[in-house]
Formats: sequence, structure tokens, C-alpha cells
Amino acid sequence: MLKNLKPLIGKIEGMLSRRYGHPKWSTSRPLMDVLVETILSQNTSDSNSRRAFLSLKKKYPRWDAVAGADIKSIALAIRSGGLANIKSRRIKELISFIVGKRGHAGLEFLKKMPREEAYQYLLAIKGVGPKTAACTLLFGAGIPVYPVDTHIYRISCRLGWVKRKEDRESFQERFRKLVPDKMAYSLHLNLIEHGRRICHPRKPECPGCCLIKVCNWKEKIHDAKH
Ligand code: SF4
Repeated sequence: MLKNLKPLIGKIEGMLSRRYGHPKWSTSRPLMDVLVETILSQNTSDSNSRRAFLSLKKKYPRWDAVAGADIKSIALAIRSGGLANIKSRRIKELISFIVGKRGHAGLEFLKKMPREEAYQYLLAIKGVGPKTAACTLLFGAGIPVYPVDTHIYRISCRLGWVKRKEDRESFQERFRKLVPDKMAYSLHLNLIEHGRRICHPRKPECPGCCLIKVCNWKEKIHDAKH
């Protein structure tokens, strides 16, 4: 299956879009907001990270202020998102880095950069990994860099897209170059939706899955009989 991955990606994107619809690509939010919210979304639910984000924005309406803020105050503001001590340090460090380089906490200039340059710029910031960099560009700048989170990685493993011993980050690095630009947004969102509704971490609902015919997961046959 790995050899013919490119045509298969289009086929699967079509199957998922027929099942879950074509998500409208929205990039109306400031890039800094998307970056901070992506950091806050790590290891927690959407509702918790959203609450933490809104609380942080309320406390620091301007991101520049976070660069000079006390880490404990930042942690207090984002405590609903979990891992507050780690995330507060990370957010302060990355905002300080951007302020130090650009004079203010803004990333809108990335929209005018070539894709790879913008991606590498974000990766050079301490605390920003490949998934965060890709999400920031995809959701904040409309630049199609395909992000692989834990749910997408799990489904991709089951579909047979991931090579042996290929970790999530290496997979993203290889796979993002195979996803056609116009499909990056919908494939990402619809695979996440698929993971939530059908391809659960523990008990995927293979018998009702729209991808069963193209999925490589050997357990699916067993499941489909029951
Ligand atoms: S067939 Fe099963 S394992 Fe494969 S994508 Fe569908 S739900 Fe997931």
C-alpha cells in the first residue's frame, strides 16, 4: 500500500468528504492566537484548551505582555488546560523569542513567506514542534502544511500509511509532501472527525467504517464479523 500512497490519499480524502462534508477553510484568526492555542491544546480536550486560551487572552489582551509576565501568573491563567507549568514556560519562551527577533509578538509576516521558509522559521522557535508549526500555518495562514497529531497518526498506522518504526514526526515530514495542497485542510479535519466518531483508539467501529475497503488493519476483518 505504501508504494501507491499518492493516488490513495485522493481517494480517501474523497471518501471522508462524502461522509463528513467539505470543511470550509477558515484562516481569519491571528497567527499568534493559533500558535498559542495549539500549544495549549496538547494533551487535553478542545473545551479545556479553549477555556485556558480565553482566560489567558483575558489576562493578557496583548501577547507582548506575556514576554514580561511572571510564569506563575501565566500558569494560573491556563490551569484549566492541564500541564500549566510546562505550557506557561513554553508560551513565555516562544513569545519572548518572537518579541526579541521582531520587536513585537506578531507572526503575520509568515503569510508572505514561501511555505518551507515559514515552516522552518516556526520550527526554529524553542517549544514549537512539527505538528504545532504545521497547525499554525494551516489554520492561521492558509498555508497548506499537513499536521499529524496522535489521532491522525493512529489512523494512518491502521490504514497502512506509516512505515515500520516511523514515528509521528518522521511520518508527518514524509507524508505532508504527498498530500495535495487543496486536500491538506479537509483531510486533516476529516481524519480527526473519523477518529472521534469511528476509528477510536481502543475499539474502532470497523463494520460501519467508510474506509474499511482501503484499510490495512488486520484486526478489522475479525471485528467486521461481529
Ligand atoms: S476499518 Fe477500522 S481500523 Fe480501519 S480506518 Fe476504519 S475504523 Fe479504523
